[in-house]
Amino acid sequence: MQTYTPYSEAMVFSMLEHAHAAHLAWRQVPLHERTALLLKLADVLRENSESYARLMTEETGKTIRAARAEIEKCAWACEIYADKAAAWLAEEEIAADGIKHRVVIEPLGVILAVMPWNFPFWQVMRFLIPALLAGNGALLKHATNVTGSALKIQEAVNEAGFPKGLFVTLLVSHTVVEQVIAHPLCQGVSLTGSAEAGRAVASVAGRHLKKVVLELGGSDPFIVLGDADIPAAAKAAVIGRFQNNGQSCIAAKRLIVLKEIEEVFTSTLLAEVEKLVVGDPLDEATDIGPLVSEQAAETMEQFVLDAVAKGAMVRTGGTRKGAYFTPTVLTGVHSAMEVMTQEVFGPVLPVITADTVEEAITLANATRFGLGASVWSRDLEKGEQVARQLAAGATFVNSITKSDPRMPFGGIRESGLGRELSYWGVREFANIKTVNVY
Ligand code: NAP
Repeated sequence: MQTYTPYSEAMVFSMLEHAHAAHLAWRQVPLHERTALLLKLADVLRENSESYARLMTEETGKTIRAARAEIEKCAWACEIYADKAAAWLAEEEIAADGIKHRVVIEPLGVILAVMPWNFPFWQVMRFLIPALLAGNGALLKHATNVTGSALKIQEAVNEAGFPKGLFVTLLVSHTVVEQVIAHPLCQGVSLTGSAEAGRAVASVAGRHLKKVVLELGGSDPFIVLGDADIPAAAKAAVIGRFQNNGQSCIAAKRLIVLKEIEEVFTSTLLAEVEKLVVGDPLDEATDIGPLVSEQAAETMEQFVLDAVAKGAMVRTGGTRKGAYFTPTVLTGVHSAMEVMTQEVFGPVLPVITADTVEEAITLANATRFGLGASVWSRDLEKGEQVARQLAAGATFVNSITKSDPRMPFGGIRESGLGRELSYWGVREFANIKTVNVY
Protein backbone atom coordinates (compact mmCIF):
# COMPACT_ATOMS: atom_id res chain seq x y z
CA MET A 1 0.00 0.00 0.00
CA GLN A 2 1.23 3.47 -0.91
CA THR A 3 1.84 5.88 1.98
CA TYR A 4 1.63 9.68 1.87
CA THR A 5 2.82 12.39 4.23
CA PRO A 6 0.09 14.69 5.54
CA TYR A 7 0.53 18.38 4.73
CA SER A 8 1.61 20.71 7.53
CA GLU A 9 -0.92 23.23 8.80
CA ALA A 10 1.23 26.07 7.44
CA MET A 11 1.15 24.48 3.98
CA VAL A 12 -2.63 24.00 4.12
CA PHE A 13 -3.36 27.59 5.09
CA SER A 14 -0.98 28.89 2.48
CA MET A 15 -2.84 26.77 -0.13
CA LEU A 16 -6.13 28.21 1.11
CA GLU A 17 -4.79 31.76 0.72
CA HIS A 18 -3.52 30.96 -2.79
CA ALA A 19 -6.87 29.44 -3.76
CA HIS A 20 -8.60 32.59 -2.55
CA ALA A 21 -6.26 34.83 -4.55
CA ALA A 22 -6.70 32.62 -7.63
CA HIS A 23 -10.49 32.77 -7.23
CA LEU A 24 -10.44 36.60 -7.15
CA ALA A 25 -8.80 36.61 -10.59
CA TRP A 26 -10.80 33.62 -11.89
CA ARG A 27 -14.17 35.18 -11.13
CA GLN A 28 -13.31 37.94 -13.65
CA VAL A 29 -12.48 35.46 -16.42
CA PRO A 30 -15.19 35.50 -19.14
CA LEU A 31 -17.53 32.53 -19.10
CA HIS A 32 -16.47 31.28 -22.54
CA GLU A 33 -12.87 31.00 -21.31
CA ARG A 34 -14.00 29.05 -18.23
CA THR A 35 -16.03 26.64 -20.36
CA ALA A 36 -13.10 26.17 -22.78
CA LEU A 37 -11.06 24.89 -19.82
CA LEU A 38 -13.84 22.47 -18.88
CA LEU A 39 -13.69 21.05 -22.40
CA LYS A 40 -9.92 20.76 -22.08
CA LEU A 41 -10.44 18.93 -18.79
CA ALA A 42 -12.74 16.46 -20.59
CA ASP A 43 -9.89 15.82 -23.07
CA VAL A 44 -7.34 15.30 -20.31
CA LEU A 45 -9.64 12.84 -18.54
CA ARG A 46 -10.20 10.82 -21.72
CA GLU A 47 -6.50 10.85 -22.66
CA ASN A 48 -5.58 9.44 -19.26
CA SER A 49 -8.63 7.22 -18.83
CA GLU A 50 -6.71 3.95 -18.73
CA SER A 51 -4.21 5.02 -16.07
CA TYR A 52 -6.85 6.75 -13.92
CA ALA A 53 -9.14 3.72 -14.17
CA ARG A 54 -6.35 1.37 -13.16
CA LEU A 55 -5.48 3.52 -10.19
CA MET A 56 -9.11 3.57 -8.99
CA THR A 57 -9.29 -0.21 -9.35
CA GLU A 58 -6.11 -0.63 -7.35
CA GLU A 59 -7.27 1.77 -4.63
CA THR A 60 -10.87 0.57 -4.24
CA GLY A 61 -11.31 -2.85 -5.85
CA LYS A 62 -13.87 -1.54 -8.36
CA THR A 63 -13.82 -3.32 -11.71
CA ILE A 64 -11.71 -1.84 -14.48
CA ARG A 65 -14.76 -1.61 -16.75
CA ALA A 66 -16.69 0.39 -14.14
CA ALA A 67 -13.65 2.60 -13.53
CA ARG A 68 -13.35 3.48 -17.24
CA ALA A 69 -17.07 4.26 -17.38
CA GLU A 70 -16.61 6.55 -14.38
CA ILE A 71 -13.93 8.59 -16.15
CA GLU A 72 -16.13 8.84 -19.25
CA LYS A 73 -19.01 10.12 -17.10
CA CYS A 74 -16.73 12.83 -15.65
CA ALA A 75 -15.70 13.94 -19.15
CA TRP A 76 -19.35 13.97 -20.22
CA ALA A 77 -20.29 16.14 -17.22
CA CYS A 78 -17.58 18.65 -18.25
CA GLU A 79 -19.18 18.82 -21.70
CA ILE A 80 -22.71 19.20 -20.38
CA TYR A 81 -21.67 22.08 -18.10
CA ALA A 82 -19.68 23.74 -20.88
CA ASP A 83 -22.70 23.49 -23.15
CA LYS A 84 -25.26 24.73 -20.60
CA ALA A 85 -23.11 27.29 -18.76
CA ALA A 86 -24.50 30.41 -20.43
CA ALA A 87 -28.10 29.37 -19.78
CA TRP A 88 -27.48 28.07 -16.27
CA LEU A 89 -25.59 31.19 -15.16
CA ALA A 90 -27.73 33.70 -17.05
CA GLU A 91 -28.98 36.81 -15.25
CA GLU A 92 -32.68 36.85 -14.52
CA GLU A 93 -34.82 39.92 -15.03
CA ILE A 94 -37.74 40.42 -12.65
CA ALA A 95 -40.57 42.91 -12.92
CA ALA A 96 -41.06 44.62 -9.55
CA ASP A 97 -41.59 48.18 -8.30
CA GLY A 98 -38.36 49.79 -9.62
CA ILE A 99 -36.82 50.60 -13.01
CA LYS A 100 -34.70 47.47 -13.14
CA HIS A 101 -34.44 44.31 -11.05
CA ARG A 102 -31.89 41.63 -11.83
CA VAL A 103 -30.75 38.42 -10.20
CA VAL A 104 -27.07 37.71 -10.83
CA ILE A 105 -25.13 34.61 -9.86
CA GLU A 106 -21.75 35.34 -8.28
CA PRO A 107 -19.24 32.92 -6.75
CA LEU A 108 -18.84 32.64 -2.98
CA GLY A 109 -15.07 32.10 -2.76
CA VAL A 110 -13.10 29.01 -1.75
CA ILE A 111 -15.19 25.91 -1.06
CA LEU A 112 -13.92 22.78 0.70
CA ALA A 113 -14.99 19.40 -0.65
CA VAL A 114 -14.84 16.34 1.63
CA MET A 115 -15.34 13.28 -0.55
CA PRO A 116 -15.78 9.48 -0.30
CA TRP A 117 -13.81 6.68 -1.93
CA ASN A 118 -16.57 4.77 -3.73
CA PHE A 119 -16.49 6.81 -6.98
CA PRO A 120 -13.12 8.54 -6.49
CA PHE A 121 -13.26 10.70 -9.64
CA TRP A 122 -17.00 11.14 -10.16
CA GLN A 123 -17.88 12.33 -6.65
CA VAL A 124 -15.20 15.02 -6.85
CA MET A 125 -16.03 16.14 -10.41
CA ARG A 126 -19.73 16.33 -9.63
CA PHE A 127 -18.90 19.01 -7.06
CA LEU A 128 -15.91 20.58 -8.75
CA ILE A 129 -17.19 21.28 -12.26
CA PRO A 130 -20.11 23.54 -11.21
CA ALA A 131 -18.11 25.08 -8.36
CA LEU A 132 -15.28 26.20 -10.67
CA LEU A 133 -17.64 27.16 -13.46
CA ALA A 134 -19.41 29.58 -11.10
CA GLY A 135 -16.06 31.24 -10.36
CA ASN A 136 -15.20 29.64 -7.02
CA GLY A 137 -11.90 28.18 -5.87
CA ALA A 138 -11.89 24.70 -4.34
CA LEU A 139 -9.94 22.51 -1.93
CA LEU A 140 -10.33 18.74 -1.79
CA LYS A 141 -10.02 16.51 1.25
CA HIS A 142 -10.56 13.09 -0.26
CA ALA A 143 -11.05 9.79 1.55
CA THR A 144 -7.66 8.61 2.81
CA ASN A 145 -7.69 5.34 0.82
CA VAL A 146 -7.98 7.16 -2.55
CA THR A 147 -5.19 9.67 -2.08
CA GLY A 148 -3.58 8.59 -5.37
CA SER A 149 -6.81 9.45 -7.24
CA ALA A 150 -7.09 12.73 -5.33
CA LEU A 151 -3.61 13.78 -6.49
CA LYS A 152 -4.36 12.70 -10.08
CA ILE A 153 -7.51 14.85 -10.10
CA GLN A 154 -5.43 17.86 -9.12
CA GLU A 155 -2.93 17.00 -11.86
CA ALA A 156 -5.72 16.72 -14.45
CA VAL A 157 -7.17 20.11 -13.50
CA ASN A 158 -3.72 21.70 -13.74
CA GLU A 159 -3.01 20.01 -17.07
CA ALA A 160 -6.29 21.35 -18.45
CA GLY A 161 -4.95 24.84 -17.79
CA PHE A 162 -7.02 26.08 -14.85
CA PRO A 163 -5.17 28.81 -12.92
CA LYS A 164 -2.49 27.48 -10.59
CA GLY A 165 -3.72 27.02 -7.03
CA LEU A 166 -7.42 27.54 -7.87
CA PHE A 167 -8.06 23.90 -7.04
CA VAL A 168 -5.81 21.83 -4.79
CA THR A 169 -5.90 18.50 -3.03
CA LEU A 170 -5.09 18.60 0.66
CA LEU A 171 -3.70 15.59 2.49
CA VAL A 172 -5.09 16.33 5.93
CA SER A 173 -6.65 14.84 9.06
CA HIS A 174 -10.21 15.45 10.27
CA THR A 175 -8.85 18.03 12.74
CA VAL A 176 -7.33 20.11 9.95
CA VAL A 177 -10.63 19.84 8.03
CA GLU A 178 -12.25 21.58 11.00
CA GLN A 179 -9.61 24.30 10.95
CA VAL A 180 -10.08 24.88 7.23
CA ILE A 181 -13.86 25.20 7.66
CA ALA A 182 -13.32 27.65 10.52
CA HIS A 183 -10.94 29.82 8.46
CA PRO A 184 -12.47 33.12 7.25
CA LEU A 185 -11.33 32.45 3.66
CA CYS A 186 -13.31 29.19 3.45
CA GLN A 187 -16.86 30.04 2.34
CA GLY A 188 -18.53 26.66 2.40
CA VAL A 189 -18.17 22.90 2.53
CA SER A 190 -19.62 20.11 0.42
CA LEU A 191 -19.47 16.65 1.95
CA THR A 192 -20.35 13.38 0.29
CA GLY A 193 -20.14 10.45 2.67
CA SER A 194 -21.88 8.74 5.55
CA ALA A 195 -24.51 10.37 7.77
CA GLU A 196 -21.98 10.25 10.63
CA ALA A 197 -19.38 12.24 8.67
CA GLY A 198 -22.15 14.60 7.52
CA ARG A 199 -23.20 15.29 11.09
CA ALA A 200 -19.61 15.92 12.21
CA VAL A 201 -18.73 18.28 9.35
CA ALA A 202 -22.09 20.08 9.28
CA SER A 203 -21.86 20.82 12.99
CA VAL A 204 -18.46 22.48 12.48
CA ALA A 205 -19.85 24.39 9.48
CA GLY A 206 -22.88 25.41 11.55
CA ARG A 207 -20.70 26.76 14.36
CA HIS A 208 -18.86 28.94 11.85
CA LEU A 209 -21.97 29.81 9.80
CA LYS A 210 -20.60 28.32 6.58
CA LYS A 211 -22.80 27.11 3.76
CA VAL A 212 -23.01 23.32 3.63
CA VAL A 213 -24.16 20.74 1.09
CA LEU A 214 -24.45 17.14 2.26
CA GLU A 215 -24.77 14.09 0.00
CA LEU A 216 -25.10 11.20 2.44
CA GLY A 217 -26.10 7.57 2.60
CA GLY A 218 -29.24 5.89 1.39
CA SER A 219 -31.36 2.76 1.58
CA ASP A 220 -33.18 3.14 -1.71
CA PRO A 221 -36.26 1.03 -2.38
CA PHE A 222 -36.70 -0.81 -5.68
CA ILE A 223 -40.40 -1.63 -6.04
CA VAL A 224 -41.63 -4.25 -8.48
CA LEU A 225 -45.39 -3.97 -9.06
CA GLY A 226 -47.57 -6.89 -10.18
CA ASP A 227 -47.67 -5.77 -13.82
CA ALA A 228 -43.91 -5.13 -14.18
CA ASP A 229 -41.83 -6.52 -17.02
CA ILE A 230 -40.28 -9.17 -14.79
CA PRO A 231 -37.14 -10.06 -16.81
CA ALA A 232 -36.33 -6.36 -17.33
CA ALA A 233 -36.95 -5.52 -13.65
CA ALA A 234 -34.84 -8.47 -12.46
CA LYS A 235 -31.91 -7.52 -14.73
CA ALA A 236 -32.13 -3.89 -13.59
CA ALA A 237 -32.34 -4.88 -9.91
CA VAL A 238 -29.08 -6.78 -10.32
CA ILE A 239 -27.36 -3.74 -11.84
CA GLY A 240 -28.99 -1.42 -9.31
CA ARG A 241 -27.90 -3.47 -6.32
CA PHE A 242 -24.59 -5.00 -7.39
CA GLN A 243 -22.88 -2.32 -9.49
CA ASN A 244 -19.71 -1.09 -7.83
CA ASN A 245 -20.08 -4.21 -5.67
CA GLY A 246 -23.09 -2.68 -3.93
CA GLN A 247 -20.98 0.24 -2.69
CA SER A 248 -23.08 3.03 -4.11
CA CYS A 249 -25.22 5.57 -2.26
CA ILE A 250 -28.06 5.06 -4.75
CA ALA A 251 -27.86 1.28 -4.93
CA ALA A 252 -31.19 -0.57 -4.79
CA LYS A 253 -30.76 -1.56 -1.15
CA ARG A 254 -34.30 -2.83 -0.41
CA LEU A 255 -36.23 -4.76 -3.03
CA ILE A 256 -39.99 -4.67 -2.48
CA VAL A 257 -42.01 -7.05 -4.63
CA LEU A 258 -45.77 -7.52 -4.87
CA LYS A 259 -46.87 -10.87 -3.45
CA GLU A 260 -48.69 -11.91 -6.63
CA ILE A 261 -45.41 -12.11 -8.60
CA GLU A 262 -43.02 -12.87 -5.74
CA GLU A 263 -42.20 -16.42 -6.76
CA VAL A 264 -41.62 -15.85 -10.46
CA PHE A 265 -39.77 -12.60 -9.84
CA THR A 266 -37.48 -14.10 -7.20
CA SER A 267 -36.52 -17.04 -9.37
CA THR A 268 -35.76 -14.72 -12.31
CA LEU A 269 -33.73 -12.49 -10.00
CA LEU A 270 -31.73 -15.41 -8.60
CA ALA A 271 -30.88 -16.63 -12.10
CA GLU A 272 -29.58 -13.14 -12.97
CA VAL A 273 -27.53 -12.81 -9.77
CA GLU A 274 -25.92 -16.18 -10.39
CA LYS A 275 -24.65 -14.95 -13.76
CA LEU A 276 -22.43 -12.35 -12.07
CA VAL A 277 -18.73 -13.10 -12.49
CA VAL A 278 -16.76 -12.71 -9.27
CA GLY A 279 -13.01 -12.30 -9.67
CA ASP A 280 -9.99 -10.09 -10.21
CA PRO A 281 -11.28 -6.52 -10.76
CA LEU A 282 -8.58 -5.93 -13.39
CA ASP A 283 -9.98 -8.81 -15.47
CA GLU A 284 -12.30 -7.51 -18.21
CA ALA A 285 -14.81 -10.29 -17.55
CA THR A 286 -15.27 -9.52 -13.85
CA ASP A 287 -18.53 -8.03 -12.56
CA ILE A 288 -17.76 -8.25 -8.84
CA GLY A 289 -14.30 -7.75 -7.35
CA PRO A 290 -13.30 -7.44 -3.71
CA LEU A 291 -15.01 -4.97 -1.42
CA VAL A 292 -13.00 -1.92 -0.43
CA SER A 293 -11.60 -3.74 2.62
CA GLU A 294 -11.82 -6.99 4.50
CA GLN A 295 -13.67 -5.12 7.21
CA ALA A 296 -16.35 -4.10 4.71
CA ALA A 297 -16.82 -7.77 3.77
CA GLU A 298 -17.03 -8.71 7.47
CA THR A 299 -19.78 -6.11 7.86
CA MET A 300 -21.73 -7.86 5.07
CA GLU A 301 -21.26 -11.15 6.90
CA GLN A 302 -22.71 -9.57 10.06
CA PHE A 303 -25.74 -8.24 8.16
CA VAL A 304 -26.45 -11.71 6.77
CA LEU A 305 -25.98 -13.41 10.16
CA ASP A 306 -28.35 -10.92 11.80
CA ALA A 307 -31.00 -11.44 9.09
CA VAL A 308 -30.72 -15.25 9.25
CA ALA A 309 -30.94 -15.21 13.06
CA LYS A 310 -34.18 -13.26 12.69
CA GLY A 311 -35.69 -15.65 10.15
CA ALA A 312 -34.36 -14.67 6.69
CA MET A 313 -33.22 -17.23 4.11
CA VAL A 314 -30.00 -16.92 2.09
CA ARG A 315 -31.14 -17.78 -1.45
CA THR A 316 -27.75 -17.28 -3.07
CA GLY A 317 -24.31 -16.08 -1.95
CA GLY A 318 -23.68 -15.28 1.69
CA THR A 319 -20.04 -16.37 1.83
CA ARG A 320 -16.88 -14.39 2.51
CA LYS A 321 -13.26 -14.96 1.54
CA GLY A 322 -11.00 -12.11 2.65
CA ALA A 323 -12.42 -8.91 1.15
CA TYR A 324 -14.62 -10.86 -1.28
CA PHE A 325 -18.29 -11.39 -0.49
CA THR A 326 -20.47 -13.36 -2.89
CA PRO A 327 -23.51 -11.54 -4.33
CA THR A 328 -26.28 -12.38 -1.89
CA VAL A 329 -30.07 -12.43 -2.00
CA LEU A 330 -32.12 -12.75 1.19
CA THR A 331 -35.84 -13.55 1.31
CA GLY A 332 -38.24 -13.71 4.24
CA VAL A 333 -36.96 -10.29 5.28
CA HIS A 334 -38.83 -8.10 7.78
CA SER A 335 -38.39 -4.63 9.23
CA ALA A 336 -36.59 -5.64 12.45
CA MET A 337 -33.55 -6.86 10.51
CA GLU A 338 -30.46 -4.66 10.23
CA VAL A 339 -30.54 -4.95 6.43
CA MET A 340 -33.73 -2.89 6.66
CA THR A 341 -32.66 -0.34 9.25
CA GLN A 342 -29.01 0.29 8.27
CA GLU A 343 -27.36 1.30 5.02
CA VAL A 344 -26.02 -1.96 3.51
CA PHE A 345 -22.92 -0.83 1.60
CA GLY A 346 -22.13 -4.05 -0.21
CA PRO A 347 -23.53 -6.91 -2.33
CA VAL A 348 -26.48 -8.03 -0.18
CA LEU A 349 -30.02 -7.67 -1.48
CA PRO A 350 -32.95 -8.14 0.90
CA VAL A 351 -36.28 -8.97 -0.76
CA ILE A 352 -39.44 -7.88 1.06
CA THR A 353 -42.96 -8.82 0.05
CA ALA A 354 -45.92 -6.42 -0.02
CA ASP A 355 -49.56 -7.49 -0.32
CA THR A 356 -50.71 -4.27 -1.98
CA VAL A 357 -49.27 -1.25 -3.80
CA GLU A 358 -50.12 0.90 -0.75
CA GLU A 359 -48.17 -1.43 1.51
CA ALA A 360 -45.23 -1.30 -0.93
CA ILE A 361 -45.23 2.51 -0.70
CA THR A 362 -45.44 2.40 3.11
CA LEU A 363 -42.54 -0.06 3.28
CA ALA A 364 -40.51 2.02 0.82
CA ASN A 365 -40.96 5.16 2.91
CA ALA A 366 -40.28 3.42 6.24
CA THR A 367 -36.65 4.54 6.38
CA ARG A 368 -34.65 7.38 7.87
CA PHE A 369 -33.05 7.89 4.45
CA GLY A 370 -34.49 9.50 1.31
CA LEU A 371 -32.04 9.48 -1.56
CA GLY A 372 -33.39 7.61 -4.60
CA ALA A 373 -36.22 5.20 -5.40
CA SER A 374 -37.18 3.06 -8.36
CA VAL A 375 -40.57 1.59 -9.28
CA TRP A 376 -41.36 -0.91 -12.03
CA SER A 377 -44.72 -1.20 -13.79
CA ARG A 378 -45.94 -1.60 -17.39
CA ASP A 379 -48.54 1.04 -16.57
CA LEU A 380 -46.47 4.24 -16.78
CA GLU A 381 -49.18 6.36 -15.19
CA LYS A 382 -49.47 4.05 -12.20
CA GLY A 383 -45.67 3.92 -11.96
CA GLU A 384 -45.52 7.70 -11.91
CA GLN A 385 -48.25 7.94 -9.28
CA VAL A 386 -46.28 5.61 -7.03
CA ALA A 387 -43.03 7.52 -7.71
CA ARG A 388 -44.71 10.76 -6.65
CA GLN A 389 -45.59 9.20 -3.29
CA LEU A 390 -42.05 8.09 -2.50
CA ALA A 391 -40.00 10.07 0.02
CA ALA A 392 -36.79 10.55 -1.98
CA GLY A 393 -34.79 13.17 -3.87
CA ALA A 394 -34.72 11.20 -7.13
CA THR A 395 -37.43 8.79 -8.29
CA PHE A 396 -37.42 6.60 -11.39
CA VAL A 397 -40.05 4.56 -13.21
CA ASN A 398 -38.67 1.54 -15.08
CA SER A 399 -35.06 2.56 -14.54
CA ILE A 400 -32.50 2.12 -11.84
CA THR A 401 -31.70 5.25 -9.83
CA LYS A 402 -28.81 7.08 -11.48
CA SER A 403 -27.26 10.52 -11.58
CA ASP A 404 -27.18 12.69 -14.70
CA PRO A 405 -25.46 16.09 -14.95
CA ARG A 406 -28.61 17.55 -16.55
CA MET A 407 -30.77 16.64 -13.53
CA PRO A 408 -30.50 17.79 -9.90
CA PHE A 409 -29.28 15.15 -7.47
CA GLY A 410 -29.57 14.93 -3.70
CA GLY A 411 -31.55 13.57 -0.82
CA ILE A 412 -33.97 14.35 1.97
CA ARG A 413 -34.07 13.17 5.60
CA GLU A 414 -30.71 11.63 6.64
CA SER A 415 -29.63 11.38 3.00
CA GLY A 416 -28.58 14.99 2.95
CA LEU A 417 -29.14 18.66 2.33
CA GLY A 418 -28.97 20.61 -0.91
CA ARG A 419 -28.49 19.49 -4.47
CA GLU A 420 -25.64 18.78 -6.85
CA LEU A 421 -25.63 18.75 -10.67
CA SER A 422 -27.79 20.67 -13.16
CA TYR A 423 -28.22 24.41 -12.57
CA TRP A 424 -29.29 23.66 -9.01
CA GLY A 425 -25.75 22.45 -8.31
CA VAL A 426 -24.17 25.62 -9.73
CA ARG A 427 -26.32 27.73 -7.44
CA GLU A 428 -25.49 25.98 -4.16
CA PHE A 429 -22.13 27.70 -3.83
CA ALA A 430 -23.15 31.02 -5.29
CA ASN A 431 -24.31 34.40 -4.10
CA ILE A 432 -27.76 34.73 -5.65
CA LYS A 433 -27.50 38.48 -5.68
CA THR A 434 -30.11 41.05 -6.63
CA VAL A 435 -29.31 44.36 -8.31
CA ASN A 436 -32.22 46.79 -7.98
CA VAL A 437 -32.38 50.16 -9.70
CA TYR A 438 -35.03 52.75 -8.76
P1 NAP B 1 -17.19 8.34 5.19
O1 NAP B 1 -16.44 7.39 6.01
O2 NAP B 1 -18.29 9.09 5.79
O3 NAP B 1 -16.10 9.35 4.60
C1 NAP B 1 -16.41 10.33 3.64
C2 NAP B 1 -15.38 11.44 3.72
O4 NAP B 1 -15.58 12.14 4.94
C3 NAP B 1 -13.93 10.96 3.75
O5 NAP B 1 -13.13 11.89 3.06
C4 NAP B 1 -13.61 10.96 5.22
O6 NAP B 1 -12.23 11.10 5.46
C5 NAP B 1 -14.34 12.21 5.67
N1 NAP B 1 -14.70 12.27 7.08
C6 NAP B 1 -15.30 11.33 7.81
N2 NAP B 1 -15.51 11.78 9.07
C7 NAP B 1 -15.02 13.05 9.11
C8 NAP B 1 -14.91 14.04 10.13
N3 NAP B 1 -15.38 13.83 11.35
N4 NAP B 1 -14.32 15.21 9.82
C9 NAP B 1 -13.85 15.44 8.58
N5 NAP B 1 -13.92 14.54 7.57
C10 NAP B 1 -14.50 13.36 7.83
O7 NAP B 1 -17.80 7.64 3.90
P2 NAP B 1 -17.13 6.65 2.89
O8 NAP B 1 -16.98 5.31 3.53
O9 NAP B 1 -15.93 7.27 2.27
O10 NAP B 1 -18.28 6.57 1.75
C11 NAP B 1 -19.42 5.80 1.90
C12 NAP B 1 -20.62 6.64 2.31
O11 NAP B 1 -20.79 7.73 1.41
C13 NAP B 1 -21.92 5.84 2.21
O12 NAP B 1 -22.73 6.17 3.31
C14 NAP B 1 -22.52 6.34 0.91
O13 NAP B 1 -23.92 6.14 0.81
C15 NAP B 1 -22.14 7.77 0.95
N6 NAP B 1 -22.22 8.36 -0.39
C16 NAP B 1 -23.21 9.24 -0.67
C17 NAP B 1 -23.33 9.76 -1.95
C18 NAP B 1 -24.45 10.70 -2.31
O14 NAP B 1 -24.40 11.26 -3.39
N7 NAP B 1 -25.44 10.92 -1.48
C19 NAP B 1 -22.42 9.39 -2.92
C20 NAP B 1 -21.39 8.50 -2.60
C21 NAP B 1 -21.31 7.99 -1.32
P3 NAP B 1 -11.30 9.84 5.91
O15 NAP B 1 -11.23 8.90 4.77
O16 NAP B 1 -10.00 10.49 6.21
O17 NAP B 1 -11.95 9.26 7.13
